[in-house]
Amino acid sequence: MANINTRHFRWLHDFFNLLYPKLCLACGSNLPPNDELLCLSCEFQLPKTKQYEQKENAFTEIFWGRVPLQSGAAQYYFSKSGRVQRLIHQLKYEHKPEIGHQLGVLFGRQLREQDHFKDIDAIVPVPLHPRKQHQRGYNQAAAFGAGLAKSMELPHYPYALERPEHAESQTRKSRQERLENAQTAFRVKKPQLITGKHLLLVDDVLTTGATMEACASQLLAVPDTKVSMATMAMASD
Ligand SMILES: [Zn+2]
Repeated sequence: MANINTRHFRWLHDFFNLLYPKLCLACGSNLPPNDELLCLSCEFQLPKTKQYEQKENAFTEIFWGRVPLQSGAAQYYFSKSGRVQRLIHQLKYEHKPEIGHQLGVLFGRQLREQDHFKDIDAIVPVPLHPRKQHQRGYNQAAAFGAGLAKSMELPHYPYALERPEHAESQTRKSRQERLENAQTAFRVKKPQLITGKHLLLVDDVLTTGATMEACASQLLAVPDTKVSMATMAMASD
C-alpha cells in the first residue's frame, strides 16, 4: 500500500487496518497503521550485532584462511526461540518473503553509512536449490537482497549465481562432505554481469560459512571481483 497516498485511499487504508490490524511479526503486538512489519519496540530491541562498525569482527573471522573478504557483517544475533529466530522461521516456512525484504531495507540503511560498505557495486544472493525454490515460491536470501538493494540504491543480481539441478542435498552429510559438495554446488551464471565489481554476497543465516565460502570462491574466480558478505543473522557464540 506504499503508493496509496491520496486522502481518500488513506482513509480506506486506515479503515481496513481497524478491521484487520496488522501484527508485529516478531512479537505479535498490534502495529500502528503504516507499512512496517515490526513494532518500534522490536525494531529497537532485536539484538543488532553492529559488526559493520569494525572491518575485522566475529563474522569475518569465520572466513579467515578460507576466502578473502573485503568486509562482512550479520544484522542480528540469532538465539533459539528468540524474536530473530521467529522472524526467520516465518520468512522461510510461512510464506513471508516480505520479512526478508523489510530486514534488508533496515540493514541497508545502516550499511550504506559505513565506510567499508560504501564501494559495493551490486548485491548477489546465495541461490536456493531450484527444487526448494519451486516449493517455497521464492528465495529468502533474494528477498533480503532486494531490500538491501533498495535502501543502498544498488543493483540486485538474483541470478548471477546458480545452483545446478544435479547438486545433492546438504542434509545427511558429514561436515567434510558438505564442504566438498558445496564447492561444486554453485556456478556463476553471468560472469559478464559481475566482472570488475565489488559484490555483496547475502544469505539468511551464517552458520559454518561453507555455503557462503563456496559462493564467494566462485564469484572471486571471475576477473577483478571483490566480495563482501551480509546475513540477517548469526549465532551469538
Ligand atoms: Zn514487536
